[in-house]
Amino acid sequence: MIAELTATAALICLDPGHGTPAAIGRQREPTGPGSPRTKIKDGGGAAGEAETVLAIANRTRALLLRRGYRVAMTRTGATYRGGNVERARFCNRRGAALMLRIHADGSADPSRKGVSTLYPARIRGWTDDVYAPSLRAARSIHRSLATATGARDLGLVRRSDLTGFNWADVPVVLAETGFMTNPEEGRRLRSSGYQWKIARGLAMGVAAFSPR
Ligand SMILES: [Zn+2]
Repeated sequence: MIAELTATAALICLDPGHGTPAAIGRQREPTGPGSPRTKIKDGGGAAGEAETVLAIANRTRALLLRRGYRVAMTRTGATYRGGNVERARFCNRRGAALMLRIHADGSADPSRKGVSTLYPARIRGWTDDVYAPSLRAARSIHRSLATATGARDLGLVRRSDLTGFNWADVPVVLAETGFMTNPEEGRRLRSSGYQWKIARGLAMGVAAFSPR
């Protein structure tokens, strides 16, 4: 009985951003299936972002496992040797109930801070099949992320230009968990306690979107 429940539990695919070696990161890939437009695989992210979002993903993974979900992660170590097409395909192949991309922001303006949640624009042939559930997931995850952290609420952001969205065949959202470049928020983002707060918000949002 327990084995059957485990086998059918929803799979959440966590995708901590960045960590790609520069030689691979500067390679280009199509922004969507069959697209003539290309973008680099990874610009590297904000300073300290790759380590911070991995720490948040590890905590989120622990909380989701405790809630009975299955969890896959695109990377569990410091480096990832692929691009955003590969990240999306990794989650597609596993038939994930949700691909949750975890990032932190950076800005030249150190006063900028707060959390936002990105979701895919509806593009025919690319994201029309995942648009509605992705928007539902974004609403759910954003609400609990903002509540759990108490951070400034920068709202939901629709994006048509993200390779990792346009290649996804499963519902997909990207949480921007705060600004590494804001002195206070950057310090909090690097602390274990705040990383757990973010993880709790993400896990609660996942549970509200996709019951196990
Ligand atoms: Zn990022």
